[in-house]
Amino acid sequence: MQMPSCRARGLLVLLALNLAPSANLPAASWPDQYQSGQFLYHADFPLAADRALLDSIPHVQAQLVHLLGIQPSQEPIYVFLFARRSTYEAYLQQYFPTAPPRKALFIKGRGPGMVFVYRGENFAVDLRHECTHAILNAALPVVPLWLDEGLAEYFEVPAQRRRHGSPHLRSVRLAAWVGKVPRLEDLERLSEMSEMGRSEYRNAWAWVHFLLHGPPAARAELRNYLADIQALTPPGQLSQRLRARLPDVERHFAEHFRNW
Ligand SMILES: [Zn+2]
Repeated sequence: MQMPSCRARGLLVLLALNLAPSANLPAASWPDQYQSGQFLYHADFPLAADRALLDSIPHVQAQLVHLLGIQPSQEPIYVFLFARRSTYEAYLQQYFPTAPPRKALFIKGRGPGMVFVYRGENFAVDLRHECTHAILNAALPVVPLWLDEGLAEYFEVPAQRRRHGSPHLRSVRLAAWVGKVPRLEDLERLSEMSEMGRSEYRNAWAWVHFLLHGPPAARAELRNYLADIQALTPPGQLSQRLRARLPDVERHFAEHFRNW
């Protein structure tokens, strides 16, 4: 079980079975429900005003599948939305008493993934972030923590801001200008949410951005790496694979952000 980090959102991939499965959740009794693609939304408030946002989530999946070349899962993803934080917290306390206290949460056990978000000021960002975790973990048997969070950070902003408008971009570019490149190996060593601080999220986002928009060889290696994971072939470390394909990968990383 992964533990909370200093970030307000959560990712909880459960190997233990001590938390309630989704079948125990009273999904039928929600005041409003809505389906968009394989996302099944349940809310304690009327969803009509949020339809455009809810309908944009399947596009996150489409773009993710397009960029990463993974086969999408067809399994449903249950999304539980709350008008108030207090109700959200009480709900999680009742059904997932051992879940970490976070302002949004993705939980996956052996069944379909579940996303829990309340309608706070970053509702849309939180929803896209947690649903990215849900999409990835439905499609792949395992996702390295840094890559899971880096991709969630990438996709949490609206589609038109993903390439050029991330709040992480400025500081990553400044660091690249002075030759500072975060080590991918350091990110790969992270295994607990408690180890993910602000700089780890930023560095994970930066490597994801480089892999998606840097040299074509970098994206190709990411796609091969994920294809191996999806095929249950031991993938090794992405850092080593990248170095084999792109010697001097740090120089490419710095150049990518200096020129972006
Ligand atoms: Zn996350």
